[in-house]
Amino acid sequence: MVPKLDVRRANAEKKYAGDLSFSFEAEADLLEIPLVSFSSPVQAQLHYEILEDDSVEISGTLSFRLKGACSRCLKETESEISGEAEGYFVPDGSGSDGSDYSYQNGVIELGEFLRDSVAFLLPARLVCSETCVAPPYKED
Ligand SMILES: [Zn+2]
Repeated sequence: MVPKLDVRRANAEKKYAGDLSFSFEAEADLLEIPLVSFSSPVQAQLHYEILEDDSVEISGTLSFRLKGACSRCLKETESEISGEAEGYFVPDGSGSDGSDYSYQNGVIELGEFLRDSVAFLLPARLVCSETCVAPPYKED
């Protein structure tokens, strides 16, 4: 389940920073590698910080597993992917430069941010071993 971050309540309780740890099912249509699918939920370990102007910085790591046919030799394989996620959220109406996320009514919905972050971490292909990782130009 993807939690929401209730900025208004966090401010009222003076919890200006904290951690969010949860897992969620990634959307299958994010994956564009043939014959490959998500074989685990995405684990998220995020830290948030609410700044004075109510903008919020969220950063942390995401990890998940992919399973399917090696993009090179078609052998069945599985791979652990993990990487950084970072987002900057501004309250609706306070203006943004386009790369930020906005949130309404004092509550941050993490869905779009998580979707973008997972998409960013996805490899262009899945490979089964070092041999298959080697780029073609290294082969004589
Ligand atoms: Zn392979």
